Amino acid sequence: MINFNKVYYDQKEFKYIKDCIASSKISGDGKYTHKVQEFLERKFKAKKILLTTSASTALDMASILINIKPGDEVILPSYTFVSTANSILLRGAKPIFVDIDKKTLNIDINKIEEKINSKTRALIPVHYAGISSDMDKILYLAKKYNLYIIEDAAQAVNAKYKNSFLGTIGNIGVYSFHETKNYTCGEGGAIILNDESFIERAEIIREKGTNRSKFFRGEIDKYTWVDIGSSFLISDILSAFLLAQIEKMDYILEKRKCIYEKYYEGLKDLEERNIITLPIIPEYNKSNYHMFFILLKNEEIRDNLMYKLKEKGIQALFHYIPLHISPMGKKLGYKEGDLPITEDVSKRILRLPFHLHLTDKEIEYIIKSIYDILMK
Ligand SMILES: *Cc1c(COP(=O)(O)O)cnc(C)c1O
Repeated sequence: MINFNKVYYDQKEFKYIKDCIASSKISGDGKYTHKVQEFLERKFKAKKILLTTSASTALDMASILINIKPGDEVILPSYTFVSTANSILLRGAKPIFVDIDKKTLNIDINKIEEKINSKTRALIPVHYAGISSDMDKILYLAKKYNLYIIEDAAQAVNAKYKNSFLGTIGNIGVYSFHETKNYTCGEGGAIILNDESFIERAEIIREKGTNRSKFFRGEIDKYTWVDIGSSFLISDILSAFLLAQIEKMDYILEKRKCIYEKYYEGLKDLEERNIITLPIIPEYNKSNYHMFFILLKNEEIRDNLMYKLKEKGIQALFHYIPLHISPMGKKLGYKEGDLPITEDVSKRILRLPFHLHLTDKEIEYIIKSIYDILMK
């Protein structure tokens, strides 16, 4: 079986974890957490990055930080992972779903403005597959209507929009280090704080609403409860694993680029024959090659291809059920037909196996299998 995903690691992960355990400091904000944060801040030229237990909890922190409250509205694509919307609902506010652009599969920049009203507080662009949303236009709208931008860069760690790393452009960004992402520690994430004014409160929210971070730095002589919060810190054991991963960051990126290009070259002919559509990386974007997907003509062809590939031992997958037509989305009042491009893409997309253990032979076998099934 060629798995859809398989974690890549070497001896370094074991070495750092062993050292972490031996140091007897395995809870949050230890040596390895600080090393990862400093590494990422330097690499991405970010003001402040704090590791969290996941991108989901980083999004929850972001909603608390910008004081999202009942009655507020937040604009986001429906074609995203559930956490983007949950972070809004958990503050009692309403997610306003916008359709996607059929080329980039990111939020359609031309459909945002019509959804903005006096209740709108923030925009959450999701950089799907490491492909950047059109940030200049999003920044323009945010400025014009005085809105916050929270970048869901869960899939876009180490990808760029023009000269800026994704996650560092909006007021706040989030990253994911889940097992399925490019750089991982199993479960983990980060919040990127691009406004100086958020940093102190973010540290408090992340430490259960206490000013413990200040206490550990020796800035105050006792710590206490000062705000709302929760336990958003990651264990230092996971940070140790993550440090080993991000030290291989550029190697992993290069490898992923090679796999992406092999798929692209191999499948180009099917696109030229108008049988499939391949992903597009806009010229303003430097991708992190998070994913390789193809778009088929319709749902039946997609499902048939997926099952036939499975019979050949190849695990190809699709996602997302659009949030607006999921059971929860329907409870919020959305219905089928509201966002036609999102609904169409979710029926036609197929994601191919993508991980560093894939061999050239396996990639060739996957490409040949796709030809054999689609050309029959
Ligand atoms: C993976 C993902 C998340 C959630 O990440 P976790 O670290 O698993 O919480 C959020 N948004 C998007 C777009 C994702 O792909």
